[in-house]
Amino acid sequence: MTPTGRFAPSPTGPLHAGSLVAALASWLDVRARGPQARWLVRIEDADTARCLPGLGEHILGQLAACGLQPDEAPVWQTRRTAFYQNALDRLTAMHRAYPCGCSRKDIEIALAAQGVPLVRHGERPYPGTCRHGLHGRPARAWRFAIDALAPPLDPAVHDLRWHDRRLGPQSQDVAATVGDFVLRRADGPWAYQLAVVVDDAEQGVTDIVRGEDLADNTARQIAVQRALGLPTPSYLHTPLVLAADGQKLSKQNGAQPLDTGTPGAALAALDAAARALGLPSPDAAEPAQALAGWVGAWRVLYNPRP
Ligand code: GLU
Repeated sequence: MTPTGRFAPSPTGPLHAGSLVAALASWLDVRARGPQARWLVRIEDADTARCLPGLGEHILGQLAACGLQPDEAPVWQTRRTAFYQNALDRLTAMHRAYPCGCSRKDIEIALAAQGVPLVRHGERPYPGTCRHGLHGRPARAWRFAIDALAPPLDPAVHDLRWHDRRLGPQSQDVAATVGDFVLRRADGPWAYQLAVVVDDAEQGVTDIVRGEDLADNTARQIAVQRALGLPTPSYLHTPLVLAADGQKLSKQNGAQPLDTGTPGAALAALDAAARALGLPSPDAAEPAQALAGWVGAWRVLYNPRP
């Protein structure tokens, strides 16, 4: 298979220092593997309510200013809904997806009745209310059945193990920590967990490099891959860029949009991203030269597969 990496920004805000780290790392990981490897960009606009018009194009412009050009035309999730519907239909047919009529409040009441303590803003593992029927209510969402609704069962989902190239061995009991998670909401949007799995497989992505804030989604995504009979890519989660207060830098806590307006500004932004990855400061006057210089250092530090 052609080694293939990707950067998959959500157009909910412009690129910031944290997202550039993931973009640069995924680009370097592909370039370090030789000329036949492909670097793709996918605009993750499946959750349309959170996306801002024009931002996908703006992000592509910022990447181009940094010398990060995809090898193929970027894809947009909103144009790929037929793939997600097909996957949901297959999961439903194999008893790995079901409609759910629960509101957030219904879930809280059911968990309280089961004696599960509710942590404010914490994960609410789905209590399984609709696993065997909607109880006459309309569907609000479709959920992934971690434990299949009918045999064959997959015992591995209770101790799902995977390897991260930087963080080492990882494991999660998906059933206990998140429970049956949402694949699609009835009001339209496709959930990240389904869209990302379907797209990575359909685009032939072999190596996922993304920010560490996404690491705890990986077990869920592997569970969906296995249910659909799709290969599991390799994973590398990059260090997070912290804000001055030590908190994770994110669009939500007001991370500054990157200035990529001039080659000098783009080079400074890339330099900061490279330092977050442990790469040396470049002896370069413009982005393309700096990028070329980092490829060798990436090979030494992150050991991409040949
Ligand atoms: N769209 C996600 C984000 O911007 C990244 C998804 C991924 O790389 O798997 O946070």
